[in-house]
Amino acid sequence: MLAHTITELQSLGLQVAEDSPNRKVGAGPAEGGTLLIEGIPAHVPFSGSFVSRSPYALRRLNGGSWLVKDGEFILPVKIVQQPKFYDCITEEKLPYSSIALLHGKDCIASTVLQTCAHWHSERRCRFCGIELSLSGGQTTRAKTPSQLAEVIGKAKELDSVSHVVLTTGAAHSPGKEIDYLGRCAMAIKKVCDLPIHAQFLPPDDGAKLQELKDAGVDTVGIHIESFDFDLLSRFAPAKEAMGLDRYEKAWNKAVDIYGSNQVSSFLLVGLGEDEETVIDGSKFLAERGVYPFVVPFRPIPGSMMQDHGTPDHETMKRLYEMVARILRKNGLSSAKSLAGCVRCGACSALQAYEQEAKKELICRPVRSSAELATALQIRKEVFVGEQRLFETSDSDENDPKSTHIIAEYDHEIIGAVRVFPEKDSCNHWVGGRLAVRRESRDHQAGALLVQAAMSYVKKIGCTRFTAHIQEQNVRFFSLLGWKAVGSIQIYHGKPHQLMEADLDMV
Ligand code: SF4
Repeated sequence: MLAHTITELQSLGLQVAEDSPNRKVGAGPAEGGTLLIEGIPAHVPFSGSFVSRSPYALRRLNGGSWLVKDGEFILPVKIVQQPKFYDCITEEKLPYSSIALLHGKDCIASTVLQTCAHWHSERRCRFCGIELSLSGGQTTRAKTPSQLAEVIGKAKELDSVSHVVLTTGAAHSPGKEIDYLGRCAMAIKKVCDLPIHAQFLPPDDGAKLQELKDAGVDTVGIHIESFDFDLLSRFAPAKEAMGLDRYEKAWNKAVDIYGSNQVSSFLLVGLGEDEETVIDGSKFLAERGVYPFVVPFRPIPGSMMQDHGTPDHETMKRLYEMVARILRKNGLSSAKSLAGCVRCGACSALQAYEQEAKKELICRPVRSSAELATALQIRKEVFVGEQRLFETSDSDENDPKSTHIIAEYDHEIIGAVRVFPEKDSCNHWVGGRLAVRRESRDHQAGALLVQAAMSYVKKIGCTRFTAHIQEQNVRFFSLLGWKAVGSIQIYHGKPHQLMEADLDMV
């Protein structure tokens, strides 16, 4: 399975004999190169000390590159080559590559402030390498907005980059780095319309998030790195000191401003955390519309954690599979992200697991007006088109107060059901308008939608859940644990049975 291969490569590394673009230090993924495997970008370690023990190697065959495992040729791959914009220099004679770098296959990234207020203190993140490339002379302390505009405009023209990542160290005056990110974004947007992602610590002033949006930033990353606060206190004390509450406020505000799926947080795996903290943390984020970008820890040469190992790949596989399901359940996907690490995906195998997970049927409440419109359209197809229960529309006064739950398969909405409180009662809820597209009825979406509706109402404190069921569907509901109440009644010209769910079956 491709997803497993990428996971193993990112944990074990790839032995590379030939010359290849190989980044050594920096604030993001350092040391290694990007492969394209069946079109999916994967940034993998090439020269960490552990790589010499990897079963994976890169070999040339008939003019192409091949991935070899234990001596066996398994897949053709491409190494992302050095982009053309690296050959250019600014008027001040700075190489463009000292201003921004190609990440993944088509993302241009820059650390706009290559310094951090915590670098020379006890609060420095132990895994970070932000100032290492400064001492290596590969970059400059601060990239000016006009330099960024020039380089990114050229990279779009010469190399067709399609999105931008701007990251930064913490400024000495907290929040000033966010102002600077905004100035950079504004200058870039003046020369090209590429979507921009910005990464920063959670601000204490939520207004900064709106200012950044107004400056042209499209998506944001506010990275907690781990939900294990004991670990954070050891590896990222400045982040631990900010506390979960501040992160949560920033995530919520950011989702309000940028939208669901356009806010993300890195979750590093391999610092020594329990798997549950990664899963629980991913759920916590995803339920708020924040994409949990789960990434295997990669030691940066020269950093304080350069000798720390990479996580076990079997652990990564388990976590990726579970997180991909959490993403599906919450309607999040890398494909919906406009810009940034989630869209690029090269540092994680999560995109590949998303591809595997999308063939699973999931049910969840709608998250956007577009999803609601599709749910209403499916109901119309069934109740107006097929069953002719209504002449033109089945919508009614209960729709605005309803929670609409959808069934989704392979990124497509195939069914819907609604639940609403009976006469504003907290305890008694009513279900109805269960509809599944005719061509999708072999997926058992109807049963899953009923069970999802039961789970939903039970979770919010409902103790009585009823529905008027068309007579021909009474057996189907009985099999799901529903009981008939009273006698058959006529609704919309057809016999219906009032039924009540057994919520203990949830
Ligand atoms: S996922 Fe983010 S840090 Fe990794 S290569 Fe892509 S843009 Fe860079």
